[in-house]
Amino acid sequence: MIHLTFILDGGEMISADELTQRPLARVERVMLLVVRNHIRRKLGDLSCREHGQPPSIIASGPSPDQLAFSVEGCCQQLVDDATTALHAPGSLDLIGANSPGADSSTIHNGSPRRGGTAEVNTKATGDRA
Ligand SMILES: [Zn+2]
Repeated sequence: MIHLTFILDGGEMISADELTQRPLARVERVMLLVVRNHIRRKLGDLSCREHGQPPSIIASGPSPDQLAFSVEGCCQQLVDDATTALHAPGSLDLIGANSPGADSSTIHNGSPRRGGTAEVNTKATGDRA
């Protein structure tokens, strides 16, 4: 399981596992739980291919809707993998909610070539309301 830690407004670190035990405002707690669920769904049980270590994600910001994510891991490969997964389409659009229509930005996959589709179809399933 990945490690996820929140730092709100430069305050103390809050482990995602402790969220329900913290004296947070209700709305903050709910938002952080949503973020936690998103991240866990995105990253799953991602771990380093080489070292078997899970990544650590630190989400910090002035409030739960303005979090910046940093990824730490045992090596660059893991950090890259985790970062890619975090930023995959449909991931944390609750947070970047100011920019609707960010879903069709990157991949131009209109090639009619058939067979051998190693590429991941990034038409994500994650934007159900
Ligand atoms: Zn590693």
